[in-house]
Amino acid sequence: METLRPGGDDLRCTSCGGAQRARDLDRMLWCDGCVALARARARRIGLLSGVVVAAGLASWIYLVQRPSAMLIGGWIGAVLATLWLVARAATELSYGVLRARWRSGSSWSIRAAPGRSRHSR
Ligand SMILES: [Zn+2]
Repeated sequence: METLRPGGDDLRCTSCGGAQRARDLDRMLWCDGCVALARARARRIGLLSGVVVAAGLASWIYLVQRPSAMLIGGWIGAVLATLWLVARAATELSYGVLRARWRSGSSWSIRAAPGRSRHSR
């Protein structure tokens, strides 16, 4: 396991194990790179969840409700609002889960090789 030296200036990120200065780690002792990776992964999961739920809602509206041309704008608004809300909620939820369930070697762990950060956007 990682060795933490309270008061020392060099700690190890509990996610990737890279040595970091204490002020560069957050309260869960994650470095900026790992936090960014977890956020990016949570955003992808959240967006995917939003798209899946919104697509389900849209097909339910299309097949069951059979919207008239007059009301289609409202239905589209409802689908977009659902997409936004679900994506937001799922992003926060999956970010929390990613952080809370981190275990060394688990599929949930975020790996950021020190000095080789993979930033998508
Ligand atoms: Zn890290």
